[in-house]
Amino acid sequence: MLIKRGVAIVMVTMGIFAVEVAMSLVPKGGLLFPSSAAAPGEFPDQWIHGSKSAMDNTDPAVQVHRYNDHTYILRENKAINYEGAFMYVFFGNGVALLIDQGSTSSPALFPLREVVDELIANWEAEFDQSSTHLIVANSHLHGDHYAAWNQFVDREDTTMVGLTHEEVMHYWGFSNYPDERLEFDLGGRNFVITGTPGHQSSEIAFYDEWTDLLYTGDMFYRGRLYLEDWDAWAASIKRLRAMADDYPVSHLINNHIEMTRMPTVDYPIGTTWQPSEPPMQMSLEMLDEAVTATQVIDQAGIYKYADFLIYNEVPWAYTTDP
Ligand SMILES: [Zn+2]
Repeated sequence: MLIKRGVAIVMVTMGIFAVEVAMSLVPKGGLLFPSSAAAPGEFPDQWIHGSKSAMDNTDPAVQVHRYNDHTYILRENKAINYEGAFMYVFFGNGVALLIDQGSTSSPALFPLREVVDELIANWEAEFDQSSTHLIVANSHLHGDHYAAWNQFVDREDTTMVGLTHEEVMHYWGFSNYPDERLEFDLGGRNFVITGTPGHQSSEIAFYDEWTDLLYTGDMFYRGRLYLEDWDAWAASIKRLRAMADDYPVSHLINNHIEMTRMPTVDYPIGTTWQPSEPPMQMSLEMLDEAVTATQVIDQAGIYKYADFLIYNEVPWAYTTDP
């Protein structure tokens, strides 16, 4: 009984607090992004995944998938570039965050700017928004994730975070990278950001308090995890696990699918047709497997796990293919 009353009092207090916070961050009549329960969303049963003959591919250059009203996952057509990179657009009041710009520069082949502009226009019309500012950011600084960055440089009302380590650190406000956790307010939608080097030395991870999605970029996905710095990656994996201890996580989301549905087996490097891909999203159990790996692996080499492969300080061109 006493406990129940205690809970009720806490809930009332939190309720008042939540209303105050919402009013302070969001314009009247604006969109609300409460962190109290994970906003649901959906992944497609199958992503566009290339085709046997790239020439005969009829899929769009960029697939736009609506995870929920204010969260979009984009995928580059594998027939254009085998990386099949995922990109993300998160919306808050008056602002959109584009994370990553794919593997192809040419707007004729890969019209990312056009696709993002159309997405923003449609979103504004649907949710009664206008003059949305765009932030063009990156999970990390590898060419398969910023190739179409140039398509945005002349865009009005746009912040280009930049493609140097210094610019990335400055924009997000890191003073103690990578250990630090930073809060980022995307128009009333709160993100927590932390450093995750190991695959690349400027990588960052994003946690969205509204959907509870944890975005792990190229440092953790279903594929060949190329690690340039084992110690940094091991520390980053533990940092992500600590984040998941402190915040509820609905799914881990990331940048590529390179595994087949068969445990430990990846598609060959350069594959432009992946007809039976496993899902892109991953689970905390898989992250725990990676934590275990950090406690076991002590030398360079290729290590196979059911849902990912660790390429520890092995040149990227190496493959597990027979
Ligand atoms: Zn990549």
